[in-house]
Amino acid sequence: MSGERILVVDDSQQIVTHLTEQVLPMFGFKTLYALDGKTGLDRIRNDNPDLVMLDLNLPDMTGIDVLHHLVEETISVPVILMTGFGSEKSAIDAFRLGAKDYIIKPFSVDEVLDTINRALIEPRLRHDKQQLAEQLRRAHVEMRRRVNEMSTLFGIGKAVAALLSVRKVLDRVLEAAIYLSNAEESTIWIADKNKEQLRVYAKKGTSEVEPQIYELSTNESHVGQVMRTGRPLRESAFSGKGITVKTGYTARAVLYVPLMLRGQAMGVLSVINLNEPRSFSERDEFLLSALADYAAIALENARVFQAADRALAAGNEELRTLIQITRTITATLDLKKVINMTIEQVHNSWQIEASSLWLLDETEQTLKVLANVGTPAETLASFRIPLGQGFVGQVAQSGEVIFTNKVYEHPLHFRQVDRETGFKTRSLLCVPLIFREKVIGVLQLLNKLDGEFDERDVERATSIASAVAIAVSNSLLFQQAESRQKQLEATLEHNGNPIIIVDPNLKVLLLNQQARTRLGLSSNDIGKVAAEVIKPTELADFITQPLTENEKVRKELSLDDGTIWLSTLALIPSYGRVLILQDITYLKDLDKSKSNFVATVSHDLRAPLSSISGFVTAIEDAGELNEEQKNYLNRINHSTDRMMNLVNGLLDLAKINARMSDSQKLCDIILLVREAIADLQGQALSKEIALELVVEDETTSSMVQGDETLLRQAISNLIDNAIKYSPQNSHINMTVSRKDDHIEFKIQDNGIGISSSDLPFIFDEFYQVQVNNNQEGIGLGLTLVRSIAEAHGGQIWVQSNNDAGAIFGLQLPLVDQSTHDETAIDQNFIQKTPPVTSSENGKPVASSFESDPQNK
Ligand code: ADP
Repeated sequence: MSGERILVVDDSQQIVTHLTEQVLPMFGFKTLYALDGKTGLDRIRNDNPDLVMLDLNLPDMTGIDVLHHLVEETISVPVILMTGFGSEKSAIDAFRLGAKDYIIKPFSVDEVLDTINRALIEPRLRHDKQQLAEQLRRAHVEMRRRVNEMSTLFGIGKAVAALLSVRKVLDRVLEAAIYLSNAEESTIWIADKNKEQLRVYAKKGTSEVEPQIYELSTNESHVGQVMRTGRPLRESAFSGKGITVKTGYTARAVLYVPLMLRGQAMGVLSVINLNEPRSFSERDEFLLSALADYAAIALENARVFQAADRALAAGNEELRTLIQITRTITATLDLKKVINMTIEQVHNSWQIEASSLWLLDETEQTLKVLANVGTPAETLASFRIPLGQGFVGQVAQSGEVIFTNKVYEHPLHFRQVDRETGFKTRSLLCVPLIFREKVIGVLQLLNKLDGEFDERDVERATSIASAVAIAVSNSLLFQQAESRQKQLEATLEHNGNPIIIVDPNLKVLLLNQQARTRLGLSSNDIGKVAAEVIKPTELADFITQPLTENEKVRKELSLDDGTIWLSTLALIPSYGRVLILQDITYLKDLDKSKSNFVATVSHDLRAPLSSISGFVTAIEDAGELNEEQKNYLNRINHSTDRMMNLVNGLLDLAKINARMSDSQKLCDIILLVREAIADLQGQALSKEIALELVVEDETTSSMVQGDETLLRQAISNLIDNAIKYSPQNSHINMTVSRKDDHIEFKIQDNGIGISSSDLPFIFDEFYQVQVNNNQEGIGLGLTLVRSIAEAHGGQIWVQSNNDAGAIFGLQLPLVDQSTHDETAIDQNFIQKTPPVTSSENGKPVASSFESDPQNK
């Protein structure tokens, strides 16, 4: 490197001139000079030369003195000492004082140049090093700046990409654009789908994003050009008006970069310097383009996210509306309300001109309108749309949704409706109302105002229709149930018999008029505990007695006012119990009259029958009879005997109560059983039947208050039947046992048994089991046993499993001998004690079952 400045200090003007004007400039050095040491020192101090050529012998101070000053003042400058021949010693001193070299006068040009170059090596190297260091520093600073920019850009990109709101992305991108390009203002232009309109978001310093909408013309304007070409555009103009930008004002510098997405410009990002005369660099363009790439992706992401979010929100909103609709519609059972709410909700959910709700009449196979909005109600109300006809009819028939946005072109269009209503149907959506897989009606939406009907409408309408179908069906069913209940209530109310219904908690649910008047109850008793309000107690006990599922019990109840009621109680699972009372007092009176009549007739028949019997014997005694005559007489005899038996039986029956009142005493049942067995032993032996009696605990009392003859007859009848209906060579087992305050005579045979269908009737008068009718008998034996048992306050039961034989049990109340008064027998007690029972399994059932006239 040359061009350094060299100071020549020498008192010889000639040398100075030679060096500073001829030699040194020739090699490109700049020169300074001083003719004495002091001036030389001043020059060194003030002019900062790169090299000093110092003469040793100067007039005021030597070169060595100058060097001393330099050392003292710590001035570091390379010095070449110029000496005369023979002054080498001084040169050594000079070296000690820091001189770089020395040159002996006179010197040649080459010597001067060599010495200068040698002395300058180090400063030159130092200078180069400094320059290199400076370059390095600059490069480092530049690199740091770039890294900073890149990481800022990356940070911005990351932050922007993470934003899910378009507005936020825009805001951050605008901010970043200003920051990266150090611009005054930045703007984003986003094109719509058709690239016809641009939405503009601008930012000035920290001002808010202000969206505006511009019509885009891709021919004019910078933005249009960038959109069209997809290339950045950079301009600046510091003189004149500046650059006219599309937004209506002028700028000093502009930079536009496209927002590219999938190779297409979706918008433009721009920065502007309005006032400052500072143009945008290539670097700004690079940075802004990178930012635009991030921005495009981030905007798209945010858009997609927002669209998805909006769709989700819309879906949620729709779901909420639907739940609300469903809740509202299904919350009522009032059909009118359901319908009104449905229509209201439909109009709230859709921008439509009209709607209607159609109900299918299954018997007529037509649809009639339940409600409509937007179309003339009266005209529509008169329509009956046949199943399968028009949109409504077709939807009802197929159960499939129909929607069309071109009604007039549709083959199903039922023009008559439009003609008569004057309504112009353009678009339509018909959904079936389906309940339990059956179409019950159709919901129709007409003329969508904010667009066309689409799949989403179908989905929504179908969901609403499901709720409507449930609500409509429920209210229809409710209406039916209500009218049935009213019918039932009316039927019950006007039924001639008192009826009481109680719920499963035995609280009164329903009382009909008869129940109120005959049992002294009132409507206020409804809801109260049956046992507390129903009188008499017997009736209350009857209605509250334990019942098994589907069980139905009957009992005759005599009330204090002398009336007799046939009470039937039935359990209705999960609903409660129904008690029906039938006043059978008059039947009982009739029965009594009948018995009296039968008794009178029987009594009156006995005398003529005895007389017939006597004359038959007389005829036999009167002379020889031929075989035919004998046969006739035998038949007369046989019939007379049967008739006599019948009459006697009827008389016995009639006489029971009469006998009871005057022939009572203490009777030992065990004794009576033994006597009866003894009487019938012969009969049993003839069939080789073994009669066995077991008396459980002989020591306890078996005394019963009553009529000995009647009691013996009852026991005999049972043993007689057992023998009659048992096969040859069989067993009849009898037991007498005590059961609480009763004694029970039980007789079990191995005979033909009694079928379950006959069991309830075998104690009825004249009842005979058909299969056994070859047996002698008149069907009064068991009737008599029952009557005798009843008259003694006891009961009779039977148990049989068809051919596995029969078991009869006769229960009679034992006499408590400690308190026994021979004469007193409470007639009331006899009447009120539960009468005879019969049951298949031996469990007593109300005997009144047999006296039910309908069962006779
Ligand atoms: P009968 O005079 O006909 O015997 P009952 O009143 O004594 O009349 O009996 C009524 C009917 O009950 C009989 O016809 C008979 O069919 C049936 N019956 C009575 N006892 C028995 C028995 N131990 N085994 C089978 N059937 C019997």
